[in-house]
Amino acid sequence: MVPARLLLFLFLLTTSALQAPAQAIYAENQMPARGVDVEYTVAVRNPVQHLYDVEMLVKGIRETAISVSMPAWEPGRYTILDYAKNVQDFRAVSGRGQPLKWEQTDKQTWRISKAAADDVTVRYQVFSRLLTDQMADMTASSTFMYVVGQKHVPYSVKYSVPGNWKVYTGLEKRGDRYHAGDYDIFVDAPAFIGEFKVLEFQAAGANHRLVFSKPDISMTAPQVEADVKEIVEAGVAIFGKAPYKEYTFLFKVQPQGGNSGLEHLNSTRITVGENDFVSQTTYREFLGTVAHEYFHLWNVKRIRPKVLGPFDYTREVHTRLLWVAEGITSYYGDLLLERTGVILPTEFLSKLANEVNTLQHAPGRRLMSAEEASWNAWLRSDNSENNAISYYTKGEIIGMLLDLEIRARTKNQKSLDDVMRYLMENYANKGVGFPEDGFLQALAAVTGSDFAEFYQMTAQSRQELDYNRYLKQAGLSIEVAKQSATLYVGIEFDRGDGNAVRVRRVMANSPAERARLDAGDILTAMADERLTFDNFRSRLHTHAIGETIKFTVMRGERQLTVNLVPVEFQEERWQINEDPRPTPQQLQLK
Ligand SMILES: [Zn+2]
Repeated sequence: MVPARLLLFLFLLTTSALQAPAQAIYAENQMPARGVDVEYTVAVRNPVQHLYDVEMLVKGIRETAISVSMPAWEPGRYTILDYAKNVQDFRAVSGRGQPLKWEQTDKQTWRISKAAADDVTVRYQVFSRLLTDQMADMTASSTFMYVVGQKHVPYSVKYSVPGNWKVYTGLEKRGDRYHAGDYDIFVDAPAFIGEFKVLEFQAAGANHRLVFSKPDISMTAPQVEADVKEIVEAGVAIFGKAPYKEYTFLFKVQPQGGNSGLEHLNSTRITVGENDFVSQTTYREFLGTVAHEYFHLWNVKRIRPKVLGPFDYTREVHTRLLWVAEGITSYYGDLLLERTGVILPTEFLSKLANEVNTLQHAPGRRLMSAEEASWNAWLRSDNSENNAISYYTKGEIIGMLLDLEIRARTKNQKSLDDVMRYLMENYANKGVGFPEDGFLQALAAVTGSDFAEFYQMTAQSRQELDYNRYLKQAGLSIEVAKQSATLYVGIEFDRGDGNAVRVRRVMANSPAERARLDAGDILTAMADERLTFDNFRSRLHTHAIGETIKFTVMRGERQLTVNLVPVEFQEERWQINEDPRPTPQQLQLK
């Protein structure tokens, strides 16, 4: 860290200590509740039925009807899931216990008629396979409805659960209820309810809980606690303070490895393999997911495009900025690991090189920009492996190039950190999202320099990225290393019925494409000899590059013969190299 950065950091610490308490998360929800209040009670009676018994008491609405809606999606998962489909046995009664008339008015809304003076109790059950006799792994947006037009009022929940089960959630506890000032905050907190392994530590003046769903999971707890604490402190160091009193990591321990996570305001739910703490590789991947999800508490949960909160839960909401929300979060996830020393600077570079390599092997990179990938997050093309890119991957790469470009243009006086702080101060702390051009404007405001061309070429264009233009400023460069030559036909295949070779994918511009093979084809014979899934690879390699090979193919009910000519192929590995003798200016930016 250069001295200028350290001074800036100290300055931020002092100013934030003098600031008034942070504004509400959602300024739009800061309207008087006018006595309206929604109180939930959730009971788990027989967990193996996988049913939550939900009671929703709606108080204080003096109208002759109310509508209640179940979200169609969960923020952070850009896919329509129509949670209303798992609602059953819907009923409504008045404050005096009289049944009220109701009707469904669309796929997710129930309209209840009532006397103006009536409070309303709505009862329904929600089916969830994540509720078992071991725990309730509860997604709030698939459990809790909102009163239409009343998302801004206080919502709270009380749980009635089996004997020793305890509740862990990111919501604030008041008495026996978990409370939020509005529905958008209320529904942004999943809950783990059961008996768990819980670690706790203080950092940045706040409490942090690590809740592992498997109480007897084996790990070196002090190490895990220390590593997560360092990640927390590295995140807080960027912004000057933690914008919460308590943060809860909910770790769903599963038999199989691999992490996936979902970010929330003051919590995250992350899946982790029960053996992921055994090997250094899987443990670091776990910490990488922790860092990514934790950084989201700023980027996307608070620093957010306008449509990402308060939310329209009834339908898709589109933004061209998911590459910022996810890609730049991935960049920071890796950066936090590097800043805490979990990974070395060279490992940080090789992680970024992996992203470059992934992008450069995606044929969709010339058909879809980062903005297009963001906008179309809700749609997954049936041809996505050929026509789409990941806004995580390209967004992380843009994050790296952008950080370098900002530091080069400002002689290392500013970095991407300053942009994130700017967005926090100018939007998030005011409780509002930024407009679609807000990120570009923030770049100009922070650096005093026009980033329109950079933005166009990296985020908006489908053109190849000009990596070296930016990397060379830090004495780095892209090198495409060719792997040793092999025989190549250009298909991916899997095991079909009866051990058959079934073509799963035909690569663009490959011998297989030229031979007109198609996904779904069954390769039954090669040079008139029977093929099986097990012998295909070895038999293929008895042929020579450039030789015409006859394949017998079943395509549906038809038998075809195709001639395929394998070519020599050298896989390209994109990597980032470091100049062994960087200039002082380059060294400063590294
Ligand atoms: Zn994410």
